[in-house]
Formats: sequence, C-alpha cells, structure tokens
Amino acid sequence: MKNIAVIGSGTMGNGIAHVFAQMGHPVSLIDINQDALDRALQTIDKNMDRQVGKGLLSPEEKTSSLNRIQSFTTLEEGVKNADLVVEAATENIKIKLELFRQIDRFSPSDAILASNTSSISITKIAAVTNRPAQVIGMHFMNPVPVMKLVEVIRGYATSDEVTNQIMELSRNLGKDPVEVNDYPGFVANRILMPMINEAIYTLFEDVAGVHEIDTVMKLGMAHPMGPLQLADFIGLDVCLSILKVLHEGFGNPKYAPCPLLVNMVTAGYKGVKSGEGFYQYTKGNKDSIVAPRFSN
Ligand code: NAD
Repeated sequence: MKNIAVIGSGTMGNGIAHVFAQMGHPVSLIDINQDALDRALQTIDKNMDRQVGKGLLSPEEKTSSLNRIQSFTTLEEGVKNADLVVEAATENIKIKLELFRQIDRFSPSDAILASNTSSISITKIAAVTNRPAQVIGMHFMNPVPVMKLVEVIRGYATSDEVTNQIMELSRNLGKDPVEVNDYPGFVANRILMPMINEAIYTLFEDVAGVHEIDTVMKLGMAHPMGPLQLADFIGLDVCLSILKVLHEGFGNPKYAPCPLLVNMVTAGYKGVKSGEGFYQYTKGNKDSIVAPRFSN
C-alpha cells in the first residue's frame, strides 16, 4: 500500500497525514473546507518542527515529508489513485455513510477503505460499499504522531487478509496495533466513556469538584490526566455522541449520558475546542487551564 488518501483534515486527519507522509507515503489530504486544509498543513509543519527540535526528524526529512502531502477539496480527485483511504471526517453517521458511498465509487476497486471512527459500526459503514471485505476500522489516538495505539476494528465481513495488511502497515508506521471486533465503542471507548460519564455524574451529584475528581484519578490511579480534563481534550460533543452510540447500541441505561454533559454541549461548552468545558482555556492554547468552572 503506497498511496494514501486521508479524508477530513481536522484534529485527527492532520495527524494521520503527518505519520503516513513521514513514513514515505504520498498522501492526498481531502477536506470540504479549504481553511481546514490550510490549518492542517500549518499544524503538520509546526508539529514536524517540534520533531526536528527534538532530533527525531532531520530538516531534510521534514521538507520531503511535507512535499509528499497534496491537498484536495474534491473527493473524486483525491481518492482516484489511492491504495488505502483513511476516513477521518466528522463523527456523524449520515456524513460517514454518504462519504463511503462516494469513496467506494471513486477509489480503485482493490483499495482498502478504513475509518478512524471512535464508535460508529464498521459493519454498517461496510454495508454501503460494494467491497465490505475491504472495509476496516483504523482507530488512531490523539495526538496521532505521539500515541502508539491503533485499534484495528474488524467489521463482520472484513477479510483476514485485509486485517493482516492493516496490522502490518500500522507496525510499519511505528504503532502498536491491537485487533478488536466491531461492537459499540470497540474496546477503547467502551471502557473510557463510562469512566468519563461517571466522573461527570460525580460532579453533577456534588460529590466533589472538578479539581478534586481529577486529582483523585491522577494521584490515586496514576492517570496522566483526570477524566474531566481528558473529556475537555477529546471534545464534550464527541464524548456525548460516543455515549449515545453506546446507549443505543447496547440498549442499556448504564450508558445514558449525564444530563450535565447534555446541557453543557447544548450550551456550546465543548472543552478545549470552544475555549471552555470543565476548565477554561485560552483559545487555541491547549496548555492553559485558567480556572475550573465548577468547584465545591
Ligand atoms: P474534526 O472536527 O477536528 O475534523 C473533521 C473534519 O472533517 C473537518 O475539517 C471537516 O471539515 C471535515 N469534513 C466533514 N465532512 C466532510 C466531508 N464530507 N468530506 C471531507 N471532509 C469532511 O474531527 P476529529 O476530532 O479530527 O475527528 C475525526 C474522526 O476521528 C471522527 O470520526 C472521530 O470520532 C475520530 N476520532 C477523534 C479523536 C479525537 O480525539 N478528536 C480520537 C480518535 C478518533
């Protein structure tokens, strides 16, 4: 698999394009929004500079990696020579199903089609294509250039051959892939999201404040980041949509999103990306927590 097309150039898409280009693959980065493409290329440039500063990449390698990335606003043009398409567009089932119909139509018939979805069924996505055996989940973690895990999700019809190819490709990217089956939330979010939801309930029921909850989990469980801060980083809207998928998919009330989370997302408090969630952030600067919004 040589030519890679990445669809969606947001938080995840730029990181995915970054790691493939760095490993020598020509990458077509596709987004409907030209501004998102421009921002993604700037982010990749900045993140590669950081790698150069740490001695992980030479300046020449940086230049050749950036030169391997071409950007497109039309899907047809961007996927036409792809050996592998990695979809990382907005987490919305309607958008993804329509995208996969188009990708199936315009990409070479032997191309593998992967989705970076956090929770949407790979089997459902595969069912709208004419090549369900070649559709698979490739769930990278944020930030992609740093995080080692790729959760490789086998849809009901995904072939052994395609799974093995994606496992091997992930290893070649320097990642540690883990193969899982296709059930709501897969493994990562099935375990993570109930913990985040429970932390929000703990705040909602006034058991403790934001700092207290995060501190207990950081110092007590050796988590690098508390669950409320992590939720802000992931995006509260993203957490809410994953919980809805779990709730709907299993039909079990234990996954019902906390009403506080629903209220915050409805009011536009989405975490780092909107400048405020459980903490306040200086816009665009992930490091600066100004003050917890809720406290005892
Ligand atoms: P994002 O909102 O940062 O970026 C999504 C991008 O998709 C936007 O630039 C948007 O313009 C583009 N887009 C929307 N519709 C499109 C279309 N039809 N064609 C082309 N581009 C389109 O989202 P994100 O956080 O990068 O998430 C992308 C995917 O990765 C989602 O499925 C999400 O669940 C998954 N994911 C996210 C994280 C995370 O921490 N943010 C982690 C793992 C997986």
